Amino acid sequence: MKEFFWRYLNAGMNKTTLDAVLNELVLANRILANEGVVDAYGHVSVRHPTKPERFFMARMRAPELVERGDLMEFGPDGQPVSDSRSPAVERFIHGAIYEARPDVQAVVHAHAEEILPFGITDVPLRPVIHSGSFIGRNVPVWDIADNFGDTDLLVRDMSQGRDLARCLGNNNVVLMRGHGFAAAARSVIEAVRISVYLPRNARVQLAAMQIGKYKPLSDGEIAARAAGYKPYSTQTWRAWEYWANRAGCGHMLGERPVSDTKKTEGG
Ligand code: MN
Repeated sequence: MKEFFWRYLNAGMNKTTLDAVLNELVLANRILANEGVVDAYGHVSVRHPTKPERFFMARMRAPELVERGDLMEFGPDGQPVSDSRSPAVERFIHGAIYEARPDVQAVVHAHAEEILPFGITDVPLRPVIHSGSFIGRNVPVWDIADNFGDTDLLVRDMSQGRDLARCLGNNNVVLMRGHGFAAAARSVIEAVRISVYLPRNARVQLAAMQIGKYKPLSDGEIAARAAGYKPYSTQTWRAWEYWANRAGCGHMLGERPVSDTKKTEGG
């Protein structure tokens, strides 16, 4: 009886967590579209909260239009779990990053124009503004041609995905030469945050390079920014709430987290 009770309770809790996570994923789709990070293409995924070898991502559809019913569940091989709808071709980016990085809970892939120059030149993209600190000190560039020769540049299978994940390593962002970027984070909110500020950071760096020598954030500054960050703090929620409302999705927001710190963030 007791065992049954606990199993029942756990099942209930899991459902709540899953529900919240999927709701967040729909919101992330809408926010990334509204902030201009994705257009008809690009996608965001989240790791399954209780089956860590699986992840969720929308079927092949523009992120701005994604609804709860569009979300599909994928296995570790990037193949849909009992779902016959058309998945996004490049789901292997997500599958391979989850496989390589147990710490990663959410992944974004997009083609934001501002970052593309840094994938086709030898100038590294560096965090140059405080809100860009989350992209991390190193942003490696992956060139699909290195190991796969002439392709259509899309990540079409797990071997290409794993090659990309190897290049990402322990970094937060990897640029994809002539194509876009992939960002890996500890939560959906964090993945969205990195992806929104990544193009802005790139734009500022490019502008600075036209004026003269630029100064990136120091390692200590990057570490100090990262140390104060919590994915579900009230400070983080401030941005999430703002983005959701701007995207016309304020009604989909979950519960505001209880204030857990007096530390201010963002300025
Ligand atoms: Mn792509």
